[in-house]
Amino acid sequence: MEAAHDVLVIGAGCAGMRAAIAAHDAGSTVALVSKIHPTRSHSGAAEGGINAALGNASEDNPELHAYDTVKGSDYLGDQDAIEILCTEAPGDVYELENWGAVFSRTEEGKIAQRPFGAAGAPRTAYAADITGHVLVQVLYEQIVKREIPVLEEYFAWKLVESDGRCVGVIAWNLISGGLEALPARTTILATGGAGRLYVGTTNAYACTGDGMAMALRAGVALKDMEMMQFHPTTLAPTGVLITEGCRGEGAFLLNKDGDRFLKWYAPNAMELASRDVISRAEQMEIDAGRGIDGNVMLDLRHLGAEKILERLHGTRELSMVFAGVDPIYDPIPVRPGAHYHMGGVDTDVYGRTSLDCLYAAGEVACVSVHGANRLGGNALMETITFGRRAGADASDLAYRTDEPVIPEAALRDAEGELRELLDRTEGERPWRIRDELAETMHENFGVFRREDEMEEQGRIVTSLRERYRRVVVEDKGDVFNNDLTQALELGFLLELAACMVVAGLARKESRGAHARPDDYPDRDDESFLRHTLTTWDEGPELDWKPVRITKWEPAVRSY
Ligand SMILES: Cc1cc2nc3c(=O)[nH]c(=O)nc-3n(C[C@H](O)[C@H](O)[C@H](O)COP(=O)(O)OP(=O)(O)OC[C@H]3O[C@@H](n4cnc5c(N)ncnc54)[C@H](O)[C@@H]3O)c2cc1C
Repeated sequence: MEAAHDVLVIGAGCAGMRAAIAAHDAGSTVALVSKIHPTRSHSGAAEGGINAALGNASEDNPELHAYDTVKGSDYLGDQDAIEILCTEAPGDVYELENWGAVFSRTEEGKIAQRPFGAAGAPRTAYAADITGHVLVQVLYEQIVKREIPVLEEYFAWKLVESDGRCVGVIAWNLISGGLEALPARTTILATGGAGRLYVGTTNAYACTGDGMAMALRAGVALKDMEMMQFHPTTLAPTGVLITEGCRGEGAFLLNKDGDRFLKWYAPNAMELASRDVISRAEQMEIDAGRGIDGNVMLDLRHLGAEKILERLHGTRELSMVFAGVDPIYDPIPVRPGAHYHMGGVDTDVYGRTSLDCLYAAGEVACVSVHGANRLGGNALMETITFGRRAGADASDLAYRTDEPVIPEAALRDAEGELRELLDRTEGERPWRIRDELAETMHENFGVFRREDEMEEQGRIVTSLRERYRRVVVEDKGDVFNNDLTQALELGFLLELAACMVVAGLARKESRGAHARPDDYPDRDDESFLRHTLTTWDEGPELDWKPVRITKWEPAVRSY
């Protein structure tokens, strides 16, 4: 058994690395576990930028940032968490800068900031359109500098609970095969999102919600799982993201008649309305026959070649490679795609969960700063600010916690379960179930939600879970057995889908990403200004939790 660490961080994207750095700097022994190399984590795909009220482009302050975030969340965000995020964000961004993050600059040499959707000021600091890539590199440098050990190519599978607290994790060693027990005084989940629940998604293949499902299986509640954000500008059919930075720089969205159709849906904010509003508007245009092959058009041509090449060169490259379109000369075909899970592991503002010694931070967690709709640029900020807070608190708790012991029976049981799966020689291949899940989630639990479709999706997920019990893993080997890990990931995804459907059916209103145009078109603060909580007991069970309001009472929407 690996020697116990004070703090074990599972996941090495922005949240995990920032948490590990904080725990190390607080004096703990730390290890990072990741199923892929840290710099390949999905944070590296973030393009547009990171939000902090630096006030470099116009007058701005944390209070205004917090107000925009509360309003953008459709009032489902917890306001204490939002205030912490917005107050601590500027210091965190300057720290990243001091560590070497090469942000784009204003003419006076300050960090440049661009406008993003539903923001009252240009607040999104950026490094051209490769912000996530830059941050991941900088954080990894800090990990290497501190000699924090990284258990790369380890697939975390089961959290271990003993005497009412989390004592570590059981992980599959991808390089050599075999399960290993990794004990830790405190454990932080930073495993990212679950976009792979959908067929059209901006998320990488690694985004399979592992940490959410592991926490669920350990008895921890998931919060607001119905809140999957659809990003309005993704490329068909791959789902590759075209950054909101394009609209921040002034791009137009057009229907097939060349109309800037947002004038009918968000006449004030237009292309800078929040993502939920624009995704719905696009879907309505497409459904009304005013799209082109299921897309609308993102037009950058009027920005001019110089601006596109300087600030949006990555976007141009993606459009040319994946859609065969050069945005200097032609509009880019885009459509809504699954992008970000506002829901996740229920935590407090230090990343603590209901299971003692278990923490969560980043997209896996729901603290909740995004509520029913995340503003662009706030997710990266959340990974840094709440990653840091979770790392520091987990380190503090580790000092006060006894030596962790992973009971031998836990490893034996896990090995038995895995052996049963690997010994099975006949059955269905997991990818069929995964594809059916992703396609039907798109059809029945997409931009718009309808009672009959959600019920149908509930039945589909139940039958897929039944079929999953008989899946067969054809690769019986030990070394890099992706067939095995993909089967395990599918098990995670199926449970998350079941939670989403139950929470979606229970939320009988329209709020943020959860739009029910036919039966409950309005927000209903009287009954639903509260979070859904799902736990698992042979199936998903639903409960509710109040939203924490500090100073902003819900107001009528205006766009
Ligand atoms: C294309 C795209 C562009 C985006 N652009 C922006 C943007 O401009 N601004 C913004 O604010 N937000 C943006 N977002 C959202 C933001 O990038 C993510 O929410 C954020 O980076 C997630 O970081 P994370 O550290 O929580 O997870 P990730 O970066 O996804 O890292 C997850 C880590 O967990 C590990 N892991 C997962 N499961 C396991 C397991 N079972 N065992 C071991 N390790 C595991 C992975 O290996 C990885 O290291 C974007 C998202 C996408 C998809």
